[in-house]
Amino acid sequence: MPGFELFGSAERKEVNDVLESGVLMRYGFDGMRNGHWKAKELETELQSAFKTQHVQLVSSGTAAVSVALAAAGIGAGDEVIMPSFTFVASFEAIMMLGAVPVLVDIDDTLTLDPKAVENAVTPQTKAIMVVHMCGSMGDMDALLRISDTHDLVLIEDACQAIGGTYNGKPLGSIGNLGCFSFDFVKTITCGEGGAVITNNSNYYRSADQYSDHGHDHEGSDRGAETHPFLGYNFRISELHAAVGLAQVRRLPDFLSIQKKNYTVLRNALSKIPGVTFRTVPNGGEESYAFLNFFLPDLESARHASKNLKDAGVDGCFHYFDNNWHYVRKWNHLKNMQSLYPLSAALKDGLSYLQTTSFEQSDHFIGRNISCLIKLSWTEEEVAQRAEKMVNIIKSCI
Ligand SMILES: *Cc1c(COP(=O)(O)O)cnc(C)c1O
Repeated sequence: MPGFELFGSAERKEVNDVLESGVLMRYGFDGMRNGHWKAKELETELQSAFKTQHVQLVSSGTAAVSVALAAAGIGAGDEVIMPSFTFVASFEAIMMLGAVPVLVDIDDTLTLDPKAVENAVTPQTKAIMVVHMCGSMGDMDALLRISDTHDLVLIEDACQAIGGTYNGKPLGSIGNLGCFSFDFVKTITCGEGGAVITNNSNYYRSADQYSDHGHDHEGSDRGAETHPFLGYNFRISELHAAVGLAQVRRLPDFLSIQKKNYTVLRNALSKIPGVTFRTVPNGGEESYAFLNFFLPDLESARHASKNLKDAGVDGCFHYFDNNWHYVRKWNHLKNMQSLYPLSAALKDGLSYLQTTSFEQSDHFIGRNISCLIKLSWTEEEVAQRAEKMVNIIKSCI
């Protein structure tokens, strides 16, 4: 997945354009910038890549999720349904706005189980956040049906699945708002950065203003701008956008390398009795950023994960024992370890986490191994990796 493996002359050229003008800021300084508007250009490229009307670049994927939620008007007292398997950014963004993250079980797609979502809807629910983890997606038809029925906002976190599609539509462009990250380990990287995409012009205007202190962005005099509402600074810099611009133009190449490497590994593993693969919903095409498979039980997955690591087969994650991505180890969330006081309503809203178990999620995450697909592997390296993985996994079943 990581685009940093393939930095080259295109990235250097874009960055040099910015350094030569000296304007690192995405807004203003029109006279000094030699016609370079890297953030604007990147937004235009992303618009066509994601077949979406609006793109707002921001400073990170976490910022993208926060800005998307804020643009949809979500805040104190609201509940947002999210999966038990994701990155910590999901609940961070929800809680930053004072809203309550309602964690629900995943299924064999490794993201939201639509039945668990339906059961979690209350009068306070305002949004469903589906997280397309590890290169594949949730059942978007089912989630769209639930969000329509209950009049909820559907937000797609596509940070780990850029380039994946569902019924021919790019992931991120199907719900009301989509979020991407361009952090250092994502398929497209610019160091730190992110994007919110939407076809809703009101959400877009709100995202544009909110991510720049609530400035109205009307007229050409920045100093004369007024503030329709309170905002923050989630701006991307021109330097970051410049790297992203070079990288996004290479996305089709990155995706085809991922698919090629993924296919070699999958074909090899599919010959092992007892290995099954994650379910990709009908109409879905993965981004191939990861290969996800299941072993028969928790013990064999733990065993395989350890042996893969010991044999130097890097990038294979057993998320059941991982601190970042799965509810089981999120003690700081369950214990509400906040630097500053949380509201009584938020604490009350989170208290379910101390007593809820996620047995269905444990069943899938416990047996899952997720292998990062790298862009820089040679054909020989992929073949050797496939052989090592097959031998190790066979010996653990
Ligand atoms: C990386 C990631 C984020 C956050 O992105 P940052 O740019 O690192 O803030 C959010 N959600 C998911 C699923 C991610 O993988």
